[in-house]
Amino acid sequence: MPSVSDILDNLDYGPAAEDARVVESWLAENSAGFGHFINGAFTAPEDLFDVESPATGKVIAKVSQGDPEAVKTAIESARAAQTGWAALSGHERAKYLYAIARHVQQHARFLAVLETLDNGKPIRETRDIDVPLVARHFYHHAGWAELLEDEFPGQQPHGVCAQIIPWNFPLLMLAWKVAPALAAGNTVVLKAAEYTPMTALAFGKIAQEVGLPKGVLNILTGDGETGAELVGHSGIDKVAFTGSTEVGRVIRKQTAGRGIPLTLELGGKSPFIVFADADLDAAVEGVVDAIWFNQGQVCCAGSRILVAEAVAPRFTELLKARMQKLRVGNPLDKSIDMGAIVHPVQLDRIRDLVGKGVEEGATLTQGTAPEGCFFPPTIAEGVEPASTLATEEVFGPVVTLTTFRTPEDAVALANSTAYGLAASVWSENVNLALDIAAKVQAGVVWVNATNLFDAAAGFGGYRESGFGREGGREGMGAYLKSPLKQLGEPEPEAKAPEAAPGTQMSATTIDRTAKMYIGGKQARPDSGYVYPVHGSHGAKGLAGLGSRKDIRNAVEAAHKASGWGKATGHNRAQVLYYLAENLSARRTEFIERLHSFKMPAEQAEQEVDLTLRRCFWYAAQADKFDGAVHSTQSSYVTLAMHEPIGVVGVACPDRLPLLGFASLVLPAIAMGNSVVAIPSQSHPLSVTDLYQVLETSDVPAGVVNIVTGPRDELAKTLAAHDDVAAMWFFGTPQGCAMVEAESAGNLKQTWAEVAGLRDFTGPDGQGRAFLQKATQVKNIWVPYGE
Ligand code: NDP
Repeated sequence: MPSVSDILDNLDYGPAAEDARVVESWLAENSAGFGHFINGAFTAPEDLFDVESPATGKVIAKVSQGDPEAVKTAIESARAAQTGWAALSGHERAKYLYAIARHVQQHARFLAVLETLDNGKPIRETRDIDVPLVARHFYHHAGWAELLEDEFPGQQPHGVCAQIIPWNFPLLMLAWKVAPALAAGNTVVLKAAEYTPMTALAFGKIAQEVGLPKGVLNILTGDGETGAELVGHSGIDKVAFTGSTEVGRVIRKQTAGRGIPLTLELGGKSPFIVFADADLDAAVEGVVDAIWFNQGQVCCAGSRILVAEAVAPRFTELLKARMQKLRVGNPLDKSIDMGAIVHPVQLDRIRDLVGKGVEEGATLTQGTAPEGCFFPPTIAEGVEPASTLATEEVFGPVVTLTTFRTPEDAVALANSTAYGLAASVWSENVNLALDIAAKVQAGVVWVNATNLFDAAAGFGGYRESGFGREGGREGMGAYLKSPLKQLGEPEPEAKAPEAAPGTQMSATTIDRTAKMYIGGKQARPDSGYVYPVHGSHGAKGLAGLGSRKDIRNAVEAAHKASGWGKATGHNRAQVLYYLAENLSARRTEFIERLHSFKMPAEQAEQEVDLTLRRCFWYAAQADKFDGAVHSTQSSYVTLAMHEPIGVVGVACPDRLPLLGFASLVLPAIAMGNSVVAIPSQSHPLSVTDLYQVLETSDVPAGVVNIVTGPRDELAKTLAAHDDVAAMWFFGTPQGCAMVEAESAGNLKQTWAEVAGLRDFTGPDGQGRAFLQKATQVKNIWVPYGE
C-alpha cells in the first residue's frame, strides 16, 4: 500500500472502473442473439455471428448476418414508409428528432458503456464526446426539420437512403447520417459495422421508445457483403458511406450511371503543423488529441506532425515525455487515456504497416501497452515523405514526425498526400495560421486545436478523402434535391464525329477551320484531323478532332492557371464583366453564326441574349457567393469558406451550343476554377468563335480551355485524369455511367446529367445551385480568448 507522501510524489492514480452491470444484464437478457431492426421491430435472430469486446476478447453478443432477403425487406419497409414520413410537416418530423435527442440523453450512460464495451474506446471519450455529440446532432437537425420549408424552399427528399457506417465512432456516425436524412423526409436503411453493431441496435430501441413511425428507420447488421448488397439494390435513392477510400471507390463504381447521389467520407492522412512560434505545450496536448484520441482510429487524425526545425528538438522532447505518461488499458477505467484497438485484424494491420515503416528506415519511440488487443502510442521519425508510414492511413496510434524550414515547405509537405480531410495549424501568429489554413488542401482546418466537431459545421474531405459534407447547411443539403422545374426530352444520341476523309487542316475549301483553345492560344489538334460541322446547306465549317493528347495538354494548361483561384472575387467579376461587354459588342455576329447552323433566327437571338445575361449574372455573383460563419462551440469562430475545386472538366450538351457552354463554364470560372470544356460536338463553332472574346477580355491563359471533338471519348479521358478535380457531363445515360465509373480513380466530384432534360433557357439554367457545384467548403476553426 503506497503512503500518502508516495502518492503525492508520483501523482499516480488507481483504477476508477465504470460500473457496466446495467449494460451487461441487457446483453444477458438478449443472449439468444439480436435480429435486425426492420419496420419498427426486431426480426428473429438468424445466421448469427459473435461480437467481441476488443479489450477482453469476450463475446458480448450475437447478431444476425444481413442476407439479401433482409436487405430487401428493409428497403421495402423504408419505401412503404417514405411517402407518409415526407408528407408530415417539418414541424412534425422535428418533434420526433427532438424526442430522439432527449432519449439519447436519458440513456447517455448506457450508450456510453455499451459503446466502450463494443468498440474498446475509453469511457471518458464515449461519455464526454461521442454520446453528447450524438444528442447535439439530433437537436440540431430537429431544428433543420422545423425550418426546412423556409431554408430549403422547393427542395424534396431523395427517398430511401442507404447508409453504411464504420466502426470507429459507431453511434456518432449513425447520428451524422440518420439525423439529416430523417429531418429532410427520407427514410433510411443503415448497415452498422460488423465489429461494432451494438449501439445501432440500442438506437433501434430508442426509435421504438419515441414511437418513430414504422419503417422510417431500418438497421441491418452484417459484414461488407450486406453493405454491398444494400448499395447494389435497385430500390435505393441515395447512398452515404463512411469508411475506407478503397471501399469508397468500389461504391463509386457500383452506383455509376444509376442516378444515385453519393456522399463519401473516406480516409485521411492529416498534417499537424507546428510553427516555431507555437505554444509548444499546447501543441503537445494537441497531438494527444490528434492521434491518441480513439487510439488513432480517426479518419481526420493528425497522423503527420510537421514541426519547424528551429523548435523540433524541444517539441520532440516534450512530446516523448508526454507520451510516456499516457495510460493504455481497460477502456472502462475512467482514468485511461487509450483503450483497445477495435479488432485483432485491425491490430495486425497496424503492426504490418509499422513493420514496413521500420524496414523503410523509420525509428520508433513507443509508450507502453498491456497484452491483448492494444497498441502503444508510437512516434515514428526518419520517415521519408513517400514512404508507407507517411502516405498510408494506419488508423492506429502512430504518428510520423518530420521537420520543415519555411512555411512554403510546410504547405508543400502538408499537401503531398492524395487525401484532404483535415489539418491542424499551430502558431501564435494569426496571420500566418490563417495563411496556411487557406493554402492547405483539406475540408477542415483547426487553428491551435484539433478534432473539434459540431453539428452546425460541415465535415468532409477534399480529393481522395471523398466528397459531400456532413453537418451544417451543406450536410443538410446532401439529403435534399431540387427537382428540375420543367423536364425536357433527352437529346437524341449524336453520332461521334469522325475525321473528314482526306481533309487535312490546311487543305479545306470550306470557309472556316476552328482550332482548339489551350493555354490562351489557338492550337491545332494533335491528331492533325478535322471534322465537318453541318449547317442548313451542308458542311459550314470544320472543327479540330480532339484526342486524349489535346485533353492532357489542356489539363496541364488549366493547372498552370491556378492563380485564378487565388484572385479576389472582385478581380474575377471585373474580367467577367469585360467578357460580357465584349460579347455584347459582337451580339449580331453570334446570332448570325447560330442562325447559319440551322437555328431559327428568333431562337438564335434568344440564345445569345440569354448567354449575355448569364455572363453579367455570374460576373455579379463572383464576389457575392460567399461562405458563412457557423455558430459552433464557444470560443471558436468556424469559418465556412467557399473555395474553388480546381480543374473542372465540362462536357456540354449538344443542343443550345452557346448557351449550354456558357451556363456551365461561367459559374465554374466565376468561383475560381479553371476549365477544360468540350463544347457541343455537333455545333462547336459558336464556342470556337469565343476565343477572340476570351483573349480580348483579360481572361488569363489556361482558365478556359476548349477541346472540340467526340464528347464521350474526350470526357472519358477527362473523367479518368488524376489532375482533374471535378467532372461535369451532359450527354447520354451511357456517358453518365462511364463518367461516374471513370471518376473513381481519384474520386473526383461528378455532375452527370442526361442532356436535354434540363432547360437551360429557363430557371433551371442558372442559379446558386451551379455556384454550389463549383465550390467546395473548407471549415476553418479559429479560437479566441485567452
Ligand atoms: P471499410 O471501408 O471496409 O468499412 C466501412 C463500412 O463499409 C463497414 O460497415 C463495412 O462493413 C462496409 N463495407 C465493406 N465493404 C463494403 C462494400 N463492398 N460495400 C458496401 N459496404 C462495405 O473499412 P474497414 O472497417 O474494413 O477498415 C479498413 C480500413 O479502412 C481501416 O484500417 C482504415 O484505414 C479505414 N477506415 C477509415 C474510416 C474513416 O472514417 N475514414 C473508418 C473505418 C475504416 P464491415 O464492417 O462488415 O466490414
